[in-house]
Amino acid sequence: MAALPRLGRRGGLHRSREGGSSGVEVTDGGERGLTVDGDRLVADLERLAEFGVNEAGGIDRTSFSAADLAARQWLIARCEEAGLEVAVDGIGNIVVSSPDLEAGLADQAPVWTGSHIDAVPNGGRFDGPLGSLAAIECLRRLHEERVPLARPVRAVVYTDEEGNYAHLFGSSALTRGFSVAELSNLVGRDGDRFADTFAASGGDLDAAAEVRLAPGALHATVELHIEQGPLLERQGIQIGVVTGIVAIGGGAVRFTGQADHAGTTPMIGRRDSVVAAAEFITLLPALAPRVGPAAVVTTGIVRAEPGGSNVIAEAAEVVVDYRDPSTDNARELEALIAAVADEVASRHGSRVETHWEDIVPAAPLHSEVRDAIRASAEQLGYSSVDIASGAGHDSQNLATLAPTGMIFVPSTGGRSHSPAEHTPWPDVVRGADTLLGTVIRLAS
Ligand SMILES: [Zn+2]
Repeated sequence: MAALPRLGRRGGLHRSREGGSSGVEVTDGGERGLTVDGDRLVADLERLAEFGVNEAGGIDRTSFSAADLAARQWLIARCEEAGLEVAVDGIGNIVVSSPDLEAGLADQAPVWTGSHIDAVPNGGRFDGPLGSLAAIECLRRLHEERVPLARPVRAVVYTDEEGNYAHLFGSSALTRGFSVAELSNLVGRDGDRFADTFAASGGDLDAAAEVRLAPGALHATVELHIEQGPLLERQGIQIGVVTGIVAIGGGAVRFTGQADHAGTTPMIGRRDSVVAAAEFITLLPALAPRVGPAAVVTTGIVRAEPGGSNVIAEAAEVVVDYRDPSTDNARELEALIAAVADEVASRHGSRVETHWEDIVPAAPLHSEVRDAIRASAEQLGYSSVDIASGAGHDSQNLATLAPTGMIFVPSTGGRSHSPAEHTPWPDVVRGADTLLGTVIRLAS
């Protein structure tokens, strides 16, 4: 990538106001550069949080669920109201553009910014929506002010980032592609086949299998996200400049024993799959530190079959997630997990099958995008610090195609993937302003 030009002062209009619900000043020019409409962004975030909200205040918005489809429709309408153009690719990734801003720039690779709007079960209202709606807000501001840019800026909402069907599904489709056969085999956490759910929502597997971005298709990408950890809040720093994202792997380990009567089968000689799975799970935490100090392994799903209180389970399936800043370490951890599964299965007279998804490699983020983020925060008067991401993000896929960066804002108490997930509105707006400044630098 060519050196990024520094953002000059954008003179002219200098409108500023204070005291909206976001609590952050809005400016259209001058020292701080163009900024977002914080009140509008806050209102959008509050509206999106109504889709799939449950009684606990958490968000149930699995990809392609009714709540997700309704949220997509609302989001697309919101973009169209603003005069933006919306395209949806074969796997459901939403790409928003401003035809006015793109006039004469057809030959230029665009800058992408975006995130996701699907959620984990009982998830929070910021993980994904922040980066998605802030991206749309940035594009809206550029469009409203007719900011002259050297290349197109597009806001993107990636499909199924939370991996109900496959890790970082939508961005993986863009970067590696999926065959129809692979897509046909995907099963969601509730046991539904992706092919059925996708067809019911109007999707087409052949079109999904054609989704793929060519190398060079993008100039750069940047994603705003909540930290989902406690470090920024603890240090009292406003903006995190993400240095890189961990490698992430996962898959299902299935123990198969023998179903028998819970009352008449003696304890000796049982082939109880749940007991095998339970022993396997308790051995996992000790494996992580064997590959590296930052390695983590988690079991978030356990299924017993047939699932009767008076039946010794024939099969038990455990879904494992493992991560490390090094791709090699993640691969080593996968091998250790598989070896332990074999060993436990043989002790319990069970069969074991493992189905690993491809490891999404660790992604160091690009120094020039990081520089643009830092310069943007500095111009706005926000404090910033380098920080690593322990969570997976679509940006780690995009980083394989184009210079990519990420911006973090503080998470209250470090809480995430829960209804307790929270980021104060001023931090939300600071993140969006930093994103806008970054996008302008990348597209100038
Ligand atoms: Zn996310």
